[in-house]
Amino acid sequence: MHRPPILKIHEIFASLQGEGLRQGEPTLFVRLTGCNLRCAFCDTRRAWDRGEDLTVDQITDRVIGLRRDFPSEWVCLTGGEPLLQDIGELLQALTRASLKIQVETNATRPPVFPVDWYTASPKPPDYDIHPDLTEVTRELKLVVSNELTTETCLRLARLFPAETPLVLQPESNQGWSIQKGQALLQKVLASGKANVRLSLQLHKIIDIP
Ligand code: SF4
Repeated sequence: MHRPPILKIHEIFASLQGEGLRQGEPTLFVRLTGCNLRCAFCDTRRAWDRGEDLTVDQITDRVIGLRRDFPSEWVCLTGGEPLLQDIGELLQALTRASLKIQVETNATRPPVFPVDWYTASPKPPDYDIHPDLTEVTRELKLVVSNELTTETCLRLARLFPAETPLVLQPESNQGWSIQKGQALLQKVLASGKANVRLSLQLHKIIDIP
């Protein structure tokens, strides 16, 4: 008999999407445990190894339970790195529950199921991007870290269709990174990539989960 996979989940909660083009939209979040990278600026280190083993039904029930009080159209799978786990059946269950699905990924793994919104956020030093992600990605999001250069922004943007927006996200809304993000934005614009924007982390500004 087929048994759906058990997934390791760090937390499930309702909030506003704080990052990227969907910023401000009510969203139910499923944060999966585990990541294959160890970014120096990571602000979700707690999700690297801590979590609870849950079945697909248990996760879906919790999401639907949250939606009763917070009737969001969207669920966002984030992490850690959500594509490290076998999330295909969870995506199908959430689709059956009539939710729109966003997956936020560090882009090192291939997409597993057609979803409404892939956010690809490759990370330094290698900025690896799985080639299967480039056609399905709705936004390319880069943290404005010490390492990020104009050349890297342009090189990565060229891997995606021209209409894919490039979102520059200052590192934890720190002043130096906001300044650097503004400078990068100007240089990227001047180089001909018009579809670029600066995006501060809303949830940190208004102190919500
Ligand atoms: S990819 Fe994301 S979750 Fe993983 S270490 Fe980097 S910032 Fe943290």
